[in-house]
Amino acid sequence: MRPVGAVDHAILEWLRKEMGDSLMSTVRTLPSIPVPPDSFEARRNQYYSTKILKEMLGDVPQDAMRLLGVTDKDLCIPILTYVFGEAQVGGTAAVVSLARLRQEHYGLAPDRPMLLERLRKESLHELGHTFGLFHCPSRDCVMHLSNTVMDVDIRGRDFCRGCQTVVASKTGAERRG
Ligand SMILES: [Zn+2]
Ligand SMILES: [Zn+2]
Repeated sequence: MRPVGAVDHAILEWLRKEMGDSLMSTVRTLPSIPVPPDSFEARRNQYYSTKILKEMLGDVPQDAMRLLGVTDKDLCIPILTYVFGEAQVGGTAAVVSLARLRQEHYGLAPDRPMLLERLRKESLHELGHTFGLFHCPSRDCVMHLSNTVMDVDIRGRDFCRGCQTVVASKTGAERRG
């Protein structure tokens, strides 16, 4: 995991354990990198996630199977008003944002357990894309498409059987080298 800009350490540590358990892989937290200045979209007061991915790819540890960026910045891509994250499908890197997973973003009282659960789902979802998965028709699957934070809350917290098979084949195969 690669923090991009300042990110709450307790949140990172919680996520590291969750991802390790979910993917049955060793997950470690790397030193943070600054938010790339050229990713800032002043007109929108958001950060262009594709440029953050590009920056992350400039420094991938040799033994890293995947690289998950975590940021508190609000992310966007040109054609969408916001994204919870972005991933290279079948690639190395993904990034997730905490900004719109926080209840505060919607004028509500902070809810830490809810924030963590959403972050867990979004992180698994984006990592699922790096394992080559597309959106899954099953609502119970973490790979189901979510456009809003309500969609994130509704969908399942883990991969369905079919998606899990794909992830296991990738993590197992790549771990063997
Ligand atoms: Zn997706
Ligand atoms: Zn699925």
